[in-house]
Amino acid sequence: MSELLNFNYPPEPATDRVTLFADVILPLPLPKLYTYRIPFEMNDSVMVGARVIVQFGGKRVLSCIVADIHENAPADYQAKYVLDVLDDTPIVTGPQLKLFKWIADYYMCTLGEVINAGLPSALKLSSESRIQLHPQYNPEEDEIIFAPQEEKIIFALQHNQALTFTEVGNLLQLKSYHKFIKSLIQKEAIIIYEQVSDKFSPKVVKKVRLTEHFVQEEGMLEELFNQLTPQPKQLDILLNYLQKVPVHQDINLNYKGLEKSELSKNPHLSASSINTLIKKGVLEQFDQIVSRFPIDNLQQQLPMALSEHQLQAKDEILGLFKEKDTVLLHGVTGSGKTEVYIDLIKHALEAGGQVLYLLPEIALTAQIVTRLLKVFGEKLGVYHSKFSDNERAEVWQGILSGRFQVVVGVRSSIFLPFHNLSLIIVDEEHEASYKQYDPAPRYNARETALVMANLQGTKTLLGSATPSIESYYNCKTGRWGLVTMSKRFGQAQLPDIELIDIRDAQRRKAMNSHFSSQLLTAIEERLQREEQVILFQNRRGYAPFISCDECSWIPKCKFCAVSLSYHKYNNELRCHYCGYHERMPHDCPACGATTLKSMGFGTEKVEDELKLLLPKAEVQRMDLDTTKTKNSYQQIIADFENGKTNVLVGTQMVTKGLDFENVSLVGILNADTVINFPDYRAHERAYQLFVQVSGRAGRKGKPGTVLIQTRDPLQPIFRKVRNNDYESLYEHEIEERLRFGYPPFVRMIRITVKHAEEETSENAAIVLAKDLVDRLGKQQVLGPEVPYIFKIRNLFLNEIHIKLPRANTNLKAAKDQLAQAIFNLRLLPVFKNIRIVADVDPM
Ligand code: ADP
Ligand code: ZN
Ligand code: ZN
Repeated sequence: MSELLNFNYPPEPATDRVTLFADVILPLPLPKLYTYRIPFEMNDSVMVGARVIVQFGGKRVLSCIVADIHENAPADYQAKYVLDVLDDTPIVTGPQLKLFKWIADYYMCTLGEVINAGLPSALKLSSESRIQLHPQYNPEEDEIIFAPQEEKIIFALQHNQALTFTEVGNLLQLKSYHKFIKSLIQKEAIIIYEQVSDKFSPKVVKKVRLTEHFVQEEGMLEELFNQLTPQPKQLDILLNYLQKVPVHQDINLNYKGLEKSELSKNPHLSASSINTLIKKGVLEQFDQIVSRFPIDNLQQQLPMALSEHQLQAKDEILGLFKEKDTVLLHGVTGSGKTEVYIDLIKHALEAGGQVLYLLPEIALTAQIVTRLLKVFGEKLGVYHSKFSDNERAEVWQGILSGRFQVVVGVRSSIFLPFHNLSLIIVDEEHEASYKQYDPAPRYNARETALVMANLQGTKTLLGSATPSIESYYNCKTGRWGLVTMSKRFGQAQLPDIELIDIRDAQRRKAMNSHFSSQLLTAIEERLQREEQVILFQNRRGYAPFISCDECSWIPKCKFCAVSLSYHKYNNELRCHYCGYHERMPHDCPACGATTLKSMGFGTEKVEDELKLLLPKAEVQRMDLDTTKTKNSYQQIIADFENGKTNVLVGTQMVTKGLDFENVSLVGILNADTVINFPDYRAHERAYQLFVQVSGRAGRKGKPGTVLIQTRDPLQPIFRKVRNNDYESLYEHEIEERLRFGYPPFVRMIRITVKHAEEETSENAAIVLAKDLVDRLGKQQVLGPEVPYIFKIRNLFLNEIHIKLPRANTNLKAAKDQLAQAIFNLRLLPVFKNIRIVADVDPM
């Protein structure tokens, strides 16, 4: 690593020394890489894939990734110097850099945007980054040896909550101070302060211990016993404490104390007696910070022995991998795919490689992570969006160092620094949430995983009970291998699916608000049998909109062309597109009437009404509103698993991958909103959703029932769902897609033009579409058209769809044309402030 630097070097270059330049990826949406000159003394320490510090623009100092090192000075500008080197080994691997480049090219964004999305911000330092003391660092106890500069930083942090990097630089009077920050992070004395999400909040437990003089002074403890004899409850507490913390053997044990909850665990010991002892000054209470990864108390388990079907599936997969790079495992819900994955992961690890296990959503990860942790213990890294940045940086480093050999994670795990992958698993491969919608890179993790596998010469296994039409097509055409598991594991049967005609029920007066009497009776029966129920409704909130009974006024978002949803728990109207919210008005702002009515219904209303209709039921809701905090998913799932809750109401979150033994009924409250969606994928999606949510019922032994409420029971999709007839869905869909020109036969790119003026947005879209027709041909360009929701966040939207036939299209050339057209449009002064988003393979 470099010694002290300043901005005024170098001295005259000696002629025999090579001058090196580094192309760097800055974490900014810049169209190209910037080249910096490497000072001679850093020639040996700058590496591809490692971070360096550079100055960009006026005063901004940033860390960036070295993408290339060469001897060519940039032709059109004077290269500035690299200021400092941060890493002594690369933090981004070779295959990763190639993958990032592919993502930028394919999804039409900049490398900076890819880096920005991919790197945890703790690895993206800038002069505005801030540090704070590590919450677990204790200057009195921890005997860490610090350099004098490090001591200075620590001292400053003991008196300031946080310091920016610039402040650290000023404090040390040094330009190259980053190495000290890095070293302090490694010594676990400081952490990067999180500004965006909440800052690092340590996990704390309440503990108690004996007040010091009872242990320090001779005879005090005996006297205490005598005093407490008339108070048997308090005496019990004391005895319990001494049993668990034998201070008579070693008085130092008292210092660490005992968790308060541990002390009152015994049913006849009450928390109030503990509090009395605290008040009396016998015990004292204190907080202790504990680790977030409490792996130690998990029982290690061997993987389950595979059943005959599972063994067969596994053998088929391994057999197909000999010829094909990609295999799709099409196994019905509950067929035991997870155990097959675990077995394959074990083999991959034994062969010495890394494994990436992709999951679509974190609701799913809670259960599967527990299962995987039991088998893989400390080798398993977990990566998901609710993790704090420090946790993510830890997983990143853990993969580089070899600590984590298996990683289970959501879509962003494809950015992690794997270098030796031997298997990628994409579970629930049909899931739309593998696609990132906003911001760039708008990547699909499933597709990216396939490219990653290719770059690392490894295999990919995709799995689903309801494969995407595109994936199944790849199997049918022989590009991928296909393995099928058509039976549930063990004795479990697929559930019985029944339709309830709600129009008919309404006529017969057999509807109680949104519940048919058939559904209500069925729920009651399960409650009596102490079985559990899952109810699905695909809208959150109480009602999707409200309306005045007198004048039909409907409140709309100020910034978007949508009605505001009503949320009862906080009496708010809320926009689900931009987050705008206001208080629910008392009376109609238009006519003054007090007859505001909620229209339609969401999960909150389902929960609310069910509590009224079945007061004995313990109902819990799982949707975006109830799962905002990091552990809320886990809590809801744990409560349901332990039987604390009887009925789980939720949005699509409850449909995915969850595995509960005791669920014997699944209810779908309103199937029609799912089916009647204006999108070529509507039927595929509806099928997937119904089969997946049905798949939560009757997973172990107990027979399961699914009740679907609909106004249109003759809709053909239901027959396919009831018969579990994926083949017929596929045949129908693929035929339509061929006929109307949709994926997999074409590649689509959706271009969204946005502007604050409706007219400008429209004009720009017209000009752009025309240019695209000239460049790509009339057949290839659809639109422009105004989407159904035509304004979001005060920007008016226009869309153009580009369809490129899969066969005989030079994709790269077409994208270049598109980029050129967008570039040209922006050059026109009238369209200066126009925003254009290209979404490749939109979902
Ligand atoms: P899928 O992912 O295909 O929906 P799971 O892997 O969740 O199915 O398996 C369904 C249920 O069967 C789970 O509760 C699982 O624990 C159980 N199971 C699967 N395979 C085995 C096995 N080999 N031995 C014991 N139980 C198993
Ligand atoms: Zn009104
Ligand atoms: Zn809005």
